Amino acid sequence: MNKINLAVLPGDGIGKEVMPESLRVLDLLAEIHGGLKIERTIYPWNCDYYEEHGKMMPDNGYEQLRNHDAIFLGAMGDPSRVPDHIALWGTVINLRREFEQVINLRPVKSLKGVQSPLRSDKEFDFVVVRENSEGEYSQVGGLIHQEADEIAIQTNVFTRKGTERAINFAFELAKTRNKKLTSATKSNGLYHSMPFWNRVFEEEAKKYEDIQTELIHIDALSAFLVTKPQSFDVIVASNLFGDILTDLGAAIMGSIGIAPAANLNINGKYPSMFEPVHGSAPDIYGKNIANPVGQLWTGKLLLEHFGYQELGELLLSTIEELLVDGVKTPDLGGIYSTTKFTDALLERLAQK
Ligand code: NAD
Ligand code: MN
Repeated sequence: MNKINLAVLPGDGIGKEVMPESLRVLDLLAEIHGGLKIERTIYPWNCDYYEEHGKMMPDNGYEQLRNHDAIFLGAMGDPSRVPDHIALWGTVINLRREFEQVINLRPVKSLKGVQSPLRSDKEFDFVVVRENSEGEYSQVGGLIHQEADEIAIQTNVFTRKGTERAINFAFELAKTRNKKLTSATKSNGLYHSMPFWNRVFEEEAKKYEDIQTELIHIDALSAFLVTKPQSFDVIVASNLFGDILTDLGAAIMGSIGIAPAANLNINGKYPSMFEPVHGSAPDIYGKNIANPVGQLWTGKLLLEHFGYQELGELLLSTIEELLVDGVKTPDLGGIYSTTKFTDALLERLAQK
């Protein structure tokens, strides 16, 4: 019997709704497999915890999480109670850094049964490899207080190690797919960082002669995701560019509620963390209408990370069957609640 020992952080808002539903599905998948056991510990670290303890996680939080094989996270943040930078830096962002989850992998794919807001019905299927540890998301800089002359300085940090590692990961991924890699750049506007990014990209490209490459400025690339998403295979991007591209990617898929993501630790020292692209959606929390597909598809990435490709495929193809049959939550135009959608999925899986 193989075991996956999960740390589960449901987080805030709809994280608390979609996580329990996803765990029900993972349990059934493990049962279907027969030789897999998914063990888990639930950690209630979120904005409620903050209000009680003045911090998002206990001081030994990282040590507790370190002993798990992976972290399965819902979403953090409740801006009406805790400022977002405290909630997010106190959990998600620092977890990514502490556990050296240097790659954020975000598949963007048209799902059967889901209407894309794009007029073209051409299918698309690409993956964004987002650098996840540095770049534009840095705490370097500060405020220079001079009243009317106040200046906020935000420094971007691009190390050779971090840049090379993200780009190299993307080339290796392209090798296993359709052998095309697009690099998101902005070397016409960003004077130091992006010319450096391009140089590292071109150096790496020399090692992968069978991979077709292109460099596209982030503004044009954003437009191309709308006009011709079918032309992409793997896209590699810095932290901020990757973040923006993947919310856009979620939108062209039909709902931010379905998009998955994985934060990968690639040196094997620490657990990787699996979380959907969407946030805690306080506007719909408590109504049982959140789409659980983002969290579920994230569960597929988790299963695949541990080598259970077939289970992952079974999960996504069964979700697509339901969507084709009109079993959908309101964000996709349906009438199913979070719970009813999951019930239908469990029922369909049990028939397999
Ligand atoms: P959001 O993704 O929570 O919501 C954006 C919109 O999409 C909202 O209208 C919401 O109702 C809808 N939506 C999101 N997920 C959905 C789902 N599963 N089903 C149906 N509709 C869904 O983004 P936001 O409003 O910018 O942020 C809300 C909070 O979440 C903030 O505190 C933010 O910081 C946090 N956040 C956390 C993470 C994370 O933990 N990784 C990521 C993004 C945002
Ligand atoms: Mn985002």
